[in-house]
Amino acid sequence: MSDHVVLHVKGRVLVGPEEVRDELWAVDGRITYERPPGAVETVTVSGWALPGLVDAHCHVGLDRHGPVDDETSEKQALQDREAGTLLVRDAGSPSDTRWIDAREDLPKVIRAGRHIARTRRYIRNYAHEIEPGDLVAYVAREARRGDGWVKLVGDWIDREVGDLSPCWPRGEVEAAIAEAHRLGARVTAHCFAEDSLRDLVEAGIDCIEHATGLAEDTIPLFAERGVAIVPTLVNIATFPHLADGGEAKFPDWSAHMRRLHARRYDTVRAAYDAGIPIFVGTDAGGSMAHGLVAAEVAELVKAGIPPLDALSATAWHARTWLGRPVLEEGAPADLVVYEEDPRADVRALAAPSRIVLNGRIVG
Ligand SMILES: [Zn+2]
Repeated sequence: MSDHVVLHVKGRVLVGPEEVRDELWAVDGRITYERPPGAVETVTVSGWALPGLVDAHCHVGLDRHGPVDDETSEKQALQDREAGTLLVRDAGSPSDTRWIDAREDLPKVIRAGRHIARTRRYIRNYAHEIEPGDLVAYVAREARRGDGWVKLVGDWIDREVGDLSPCWPRGEVEAAIAEAHRLGARVTAHCFAEDSLRDLVEAGIDCIEHATGLAEDTIPLFAERGVAIVPTLVNIATFPHLADGGEAKFPDWSAHMRRLHARRYDTVRAAYDAGIPIFVGTDAGGSMAHGLVAAEVAELVKAGIPPLDALSATAWHARTWLGRPVLEEGAPADLVVYEEDPRADVRALAAPSRIVLNGRIVG
């Protein structure tokens, strides 16, 4: 379908953190910097244009009880879209959300298949719950189902120990990551605690979610190997509440969660200072609301990341990391327009004035 309505974006087009152009056009859903010839119907949008934001840790098709129907998944995706999130890395979902790919009006989704967790060591109804002997086979299966990512649960409370503890032996996780890489997929893992990090990084993992347990001994390892982290600080903010709930039965776990929470900004700042790539993720789905991308950028700034880098962690750098285009000639016209320069104050992200997806104004 081609209706030849051309969208003209005028003002300041933030092609890169430092590269600004005065205008672009969207023709048949794609970006061009050359004025389209001939008489066309043009809709003009003015302001500061960023590439569609990335939420690198977001679950579509999931709520606190497990999988949800397509109607609920659609609502979740629309809530993300309203916030300017036009590219999601779905960090694990038990629902089949492939149908979203055919919808030009919904954010693009990069899936990690379904979470892979140890038996009875994760939230009920979320994950494939398996034992280490089956890890390689399940990782291969989810690598084929996903869009280039596989999601492990790397640590979780061990009720017998009464604290967080690693879920996988080193040998199995190393074989599983090698298998994912052979199949062309990257691997990420949910990790709150300190203990699981060294094994996972040495086993070749590509990314760690939350990473609250990063410390002096593991930070240099992450930096050296370029292992990314997605802190999800808006989710880490709920740790004290979780700790309250578990206090009576698991006091050690509870105290551990409080310590990780107390040092969360220092942890993120130390990771940043060491050169670890950091990306914006909200952990939407499950217990977190969708559409918190601006709040997470603000949290990264609060942790001490310079605003331009915090912005890039949901814009240019995040897209490049995920292998998706930014605002180059020929790319899908996915962009968000603001009245104020979001580089000057990231709080501008909370109020998009226009949202453009595949060249159409959707918000
Ligand atoms: Zn998550």
